[in-house]
This record gives sequence, C-alpha cells and structure tokens, in this order.
Amino acid sequence: MAPVKAIYNVAVRAASTAVAALVLEGFMTLPVGIVRMDHPLLWVQMIVAAESNMLVNLIAIAAIMTAVQGWMGNGKFLQSVWQSSAVCLVNSILGLVALLALRTSSWAVVCLGVLALLVGGGYRGYRRSLQQHRSLTELYDFTQAAAQAREAGNLADVLLVRARKLLSAEYATLWLPGSRRHPEVMLTARIEDKGLSDRPVTPNLLRSKAIAGDQTVVVGPRVGDPALRAQLAEHGKKDAIVVPLRSGTAVIGTLEVVNRVGEMSSFESHQVRLLETLAAHVAVAVENSRLVDRLRFDAYHDSLTGLPNRRRMTAMLEEAVKVSAPDVVAVLLFDVDGMRDVNESMGHQAGDKLLAEVSQRLRDLAPPAALVARVGGDKFAVTLRAESAAEAVELAGKLRAALQEPMRLGTLNLDVDTAVGLALHPEHGSEPEVLLRRADLAVHAAKQTNSHIQQFHLALESGSTRRIGLAGDLRRALDAGELEVYFQPKVALSDRRLVGVECLSRWEHPVHGSVSPQDFIAVAEHTGQLGRLTEVVLREGLRRCREWADEGRPLSVAVNLSPRTLVDPDFPSQVGELLAEYGVPAERLTLEITEDGMVAGPDRPMPTLHRLHDLGVRLSVDDFGTGYSSLSYLRRLPVHEVKVDRMFVQGMATDPGDLAIVRAVVDLSRHFGLSVVAEGVESELTLALLEEMGCDIGQGFFFSRALPYERLETWFAAQTVTEEVGVGGSVRRLRAVP
Ligand code: C2E
Ligand code: CA
Ligand code: CA
Repeated sequence: MAPVKAIYNVAVRAASTAVAALVLEGFMTLPVGIVRMDHPLLWVQMIVAAESNMLVNLIAIAAIMTAVQGWMGNGKFLQSVWQSSAVCLVNSILGLVALLALRTSSWAVVCLGVLALLVGGGYRGYRRSLQQHRSLTELYDFTQAAAQAREAGNLADVLLVRARKLLSAEYATLWLPGSRRHPEVMLTARIEDKGLSDRPVTPNLLRSKAIAGDQTVVVGPRVGDPALRAQLAEHGKKDAIVVPLRSGTAVIGTLEVVNRVGEMSSFESHQVRLLETLAAHVAVAVENSRLVDRLRFDAYHDSLTGLPNRRRMTAMLEEAVKVSAPDVVAVLLFDVDGMRDVNESMGHQAGDKLLAEVSQRLRDLAPPAALVARVGGDKFAVTLRAESAAEAVELAGKLRAALQEPMRLGTLNLDVDTAVGLALHPEHGSEPEVLLRRADLAVHAAKQTNSHIQQFHLALESGSTRRIGLAGDLRRALDAGELEVYFQPKVALSDRRLVGVECLSRWEHPVHGSVSPQDFIAVAEHTGQLGRLTEVVLREGLRRCREWADEGRPLSVAVNLSPRTLVDPDFPSQVGELLAEYGVPAERLTLEITEDGMVAGPDRPMPTLHRLHDLGVRLSVDDFGTGYSSLSYLRRLPVHEVKVDRMFVQGMATDPGDLAIVRAVVDLSRHFGLSVVAEGVESELTLALLEEMGCDIGQGFFFSRALPYERLETWFAAQTVTEEVGVGGSVRRLRAVP
C-alpha cells in the first residue's frame, strides 16, 4: 500500500475502534465488574458498538471517495449503509453465539470450525453462481447493444465502453490492422474519459504474442511470461488481457483490457473467459460491418478498373435528370473494339491491362464534373452536363482520339479503336435505363459510320421490335405448354445427399432457338404474362414433388419468383391452393427471391413475404451479395435460407476476396440461424472449400446442370450408391466424385 493510504487506514481503524469503545462505555448499564455474558442487554450493547464501528468506517470511505470522485448520491449511500448494517448484524450475532458456545465448553471450537467451513464453502458457491448469472445477463446486454450500434454506426464506442465496464478495467482497446480497403483501427476507451482515444496502451510485444500464437495472453503481477510482465511494468501498467479476434481461421485484430480497477485486485480467470466470449461477438460484429462495407463497395464498383459500375451510373443519372436546367445531360457510351481478339490472342491478362489503360485515359481526360463508369465488359460510359448536343459530340471526338493513341502492352504497341454512342436528356428520355439502352443502340450504329460517333435517333429502335414479337410467341408457347421446366440438384454437403431441386424454366423458340430465361422472363414481366409463367413452373414443380414423395423419395423443390410477383396480393393464397391441390406439405416448397426483390420499395413486398411465411413455405434470398443489403437486415425478414451468388462461389477458388466474402456469409448465416446454399459450384476445389467452412448445401455444374425430368432420374440412378445402415435399413448417397 502507498504510505499515505496505510496511514489513513490506520487512522480510520483507530477512530472506529474508539467510537465502538465509547458506545460500549456510554451505554454501560451494568457495573463493569459484574459483566455477565448471558445478559441480553450486554448483547445489544455489543451489537450497537459493532454497528457504530462499521458506520465510522463507511463514512470515512465515503468521504475519501467524495473527495476523489464526487458524491455517490444519497440513494447509493443509504443502500450501502443498509447492506453493511445487515452484514454487521449477522456477523455480530454469529460472534456472540460463538462466544457463548465457547463459554460452555472449549470443545465447542470443533463444532464452530466445521460450521465455518461449511458456511464458507456454501458462500463461495453462491458467489460463483451469482457471478455467472451476472456475466450472462451482461453478455446478453452486450450483444444487444452491439447489434443496435451496428445500425447506428457507433460500434466501436459502444463495444469498448461496455467491454471496459464489464471487466472493470481502466482501459479497453480494439485493434484492427489496416488493409487495402480499411484503415488501421486503434481505439481505446479509458475510465472517466468521454469518447475514445487512438493512443495504444498495451505494449506491442503482448499484442504480437497474442496474434502470432493465436491465443489469449494474460499478464499480471503474478501471472504470465516474465518478459511480458517486464514490458507491461515499463509501460506503468499492472495487468492486461489480450484476446485475438478471429474470423474463420484468420486473426483479424485484438481486443484488449488493461489495469483491473482496484489496487489490490487483478484479472481473474472467469474474466479471461468473459473477454474471450466478448471477443467472439466483437469479431462477428466487425466482420459484419466490414462485409457490408465491402459488399456496398463491390455493388457500386467494377473490380478490375475500380471505376463506378453500371448500377452506380444509373443511380447517378437518376439524380442528374432530376435537376431542371437549360443544359443537357449527355451519356457517352464507348465500346472498345476488338477486345475479344486481344483476349484470345494475348490472354486475359493483356485484355485486363488494356481495359485498365482505357479507364485511366478516360478518367484523365474527361472534365472533372463528369462521371466515368464501366458499364459492361468492354463498355465505358461518361456522363456529364453539357450546354448543347454539339458540345457533347465534340467531347466524344476528343476522348475517342485520346483512346486511339497507341497503347503499350509489354513490348507491343496496340491500336485500339472505339465507337461512341450518345444519348441526351431530355431529348432521348429521362429514365437512366432508357438513356443507357439508347446510347447502346447508338453505339451499334456508330460502328457502321465513318466517324464512329453516333447520336441516338428513333429509327435505331426498330431493331428491338424482336421483343415485341417474342411476347406473342411466348403467349402461344404458354398456351401450348411448350415452356419446359428443368431441375437442377441441390446437394447437402455434409453427407452428399440429394435434398432437393431448383426448377428453372426453359423455352425452345421454333425460330430463334433457345431463349435465355432472363430474356423471356423480362418479356413476360412487361407483357403481363408473369403470373402464368410462375404458375406453370409452380405446378410442374409441385407435381414432380408429389411424385417423388409417392415413390418414397421426398425431395424439396425451389421455384424462382420475380420481384413483381411479391407485389401481387393474391399470390400467397394461390400458392396455398396449389399446395393443397397437389398435396405437398408447405415446407417442401422453397421460393427463391433475389436480395433486391426482398428489399425493393418501402416495405411493399413485406406483407406478401409474411403471408408466404405463415403458409409454411421456405423463403430463400437468391443471388445474395449482388445487392447491398446486410445480413443483419435480412435476418429481420422471414427468410430461412441464403443463396450466395454464383459470382462469388465461382471466384472463391482463385480470388481471396471472393473466398472471404463466401466465408463471412457462411459464418454470419449460421450465426443468425439461416441455412446457406452455394450456387455455381463448378470444381472439386470449390466444393472442398465450401465443405471446410461448413456450408450446408451446394448446387452447380459440378453436380449437374439443370436437367429435364427423365434425365434427372437417370442422373440420380447413376450417381447414387446404396449404403447399408443398421439392420435392414439403407441410404442412398451421391458418389463422392460425380
Ligand atoms: P438463378 O435463380 O440464379 O438460377 C441459377 C442459374 O445459374 C441458372 O441459370 C443455372 O443454370 C445457373 N447455374 C447453375 N449452376 C451453375 C454453375 O455451376 N455454373 C454456372 N455458370 N451457372 C450455373 P438459368 O437457368 O439460365 O437461369 C437464369 C436466371 O433466370 C435464374 O437465375 C433465375 O433468376 C431466372 N429464372 C429461371 N427460371 C425462372 C422462373 O421460372 N421464374 C423466374 N421468375 N425466374 C426464373
Ligand atoms: Ca434461383
Ligand atoms: Ca441465384
């Protein structure tokens, strides 16, 4: 103890003892000489003396605390007086009982000893369970607060202040190393300080030890590595716990607490465990917020050139056309010629370099207020305000000329030619999609011209009448039952069992050949045939589902919904009727809805989603990762399943970024109790990675493409091996290598 503290304590003890003695004397009613231990009045006196002793001690402590920290408040003071008096009363009575017992026989000491041991043991157990209970409630509060803070964007503040309090530490620090996308985070909450500081508190040696060993490092006056202890002492700190934050198998940072409050106390093992639990929650929260950032960035940017992508361009155009001004908004669309040749003859890397160079030149030469974006494989768009159409055409010429300067690729000089198409607001429309589509039509026309620059005009649009023709054909095809449904297997990764199929529609057009679903679904959407199309697929799916169940081989079926279907208030009841008609239990039907479809519009699809959920059908978030909603948001929707978009799954074997995203989605989904389907599994390696990270279900060409019913049956027969389980039972599993 510091000398001043020791002196103060001795003085307080002396004072309190003196007061107790005075009380005893002042109340003395029996002459000192004839004190009789068995007289109740004396007992009362002794108890009062002990209570006043306690009171003096308490007042002295309260006084010193008031001097240092300010008055604790009447309520709190009275509460501690009340508690201490109660404890003092119990102790005094115990003391008296012991004294009385000892006066009867000195053997009583044995009984008293045993009693003391038992009571001591019971008290320790009580204390421990009390502590556990408190830790649990505090942990619960902590996770609640973390979830709320993530929404509010003050995650670090809340986490650190809470963690510091929970562990009664002077400091709590969160450290996350910097990376390409994220700056380094070094934040510390300190007792009595408002806000966080960015000063490091823990010696680096401790932190690096925790990270290198991937384990918690505890250092205190009597625990831990002597070298680390010395380091800590050098920093003027007495004890510390450093816990690595883990995401999957990687360490992404540390959570640290330093200096347990109270001079004589140090961190205990249950606190180490508590901090480790907190760290697990913190890691999830950090990963979640980073994942959202990352997805948000990816959602709006092209990964190769770092330029804004089509989505960003559309959003930006939407804003630009809202501003009413005398000038025009021009969309200049650049199509780089011969990209395919470069890719084929020189490899994709060369092609990528070329695109990066094109984006650099456009960025350098476009006016500062223009937005340059990559809107397609070899298509770039520049959007800007111009005084007139002529000014926009002039800029197009200038930029095109700059792109024609030879480009160096390694040792080669390459001449690149580009065509430019222009569309202008307000002349050519005011919807971003329309403007971009018309610029695209203009680009195609530009290739036929000498200048390679073309403004949009209405005659260019006649080519897109194909779609209008398709609408009639589609109606006929639906009437004649020519629309087919193919089935693609969904396989449980843990035991390679076929668990279900996704129904995908197929249309073989008598003249154009097979039309891609994206195309004819767009046509259906625009010509009011979507409802029929969905019904055809649902009926076929449910029919087969029933057949499989009747054959003793129940499989679940998944059907895709367009966002528009969710706006239809009759849809849920229609699903209910179809389920009844085919006698299929609701939970065997999964409806896949894209991420954007779930969140589009201010709460519009929600009632439908809830009604579908109430029917008991499973809801799945399709193409997760391509939109920009966060998993914690989706968790609030009534969904059961997340399908990681095939773009990430296809990339995960080669691109660490994609791998990290898939891993984070899998981890988080499990955390939220959602099951995860990886679609687009094309290779053995991808499959192995997914299995290792605990993904539930896989779907992709590695198992099978979407197949017509009969071929699915053949596929299934060829793939399965029957394994005996137990007596007389057997299961059918897919072969390990399809
Ligand atoms: P989706 O829901 O993401 O469906 C999966 C798509 O990925 C299918 O393309 C499937 O053939 C393809 N796929 C599956 N595994 C792999 C793989 O390992 N590698 C690659 N590269 N691709 C794989 P598909 O059949 O062309 O369907 C495209 C989209 O059209 C679907 O995307 C879905 O959004 C939509 N669609 C298809 N049928 C329907 C339907 O009946 N109704 C509605 N509303 N949409 C449908
Ligand atoms: Ca789907
Ligand atoms: Ca999908």
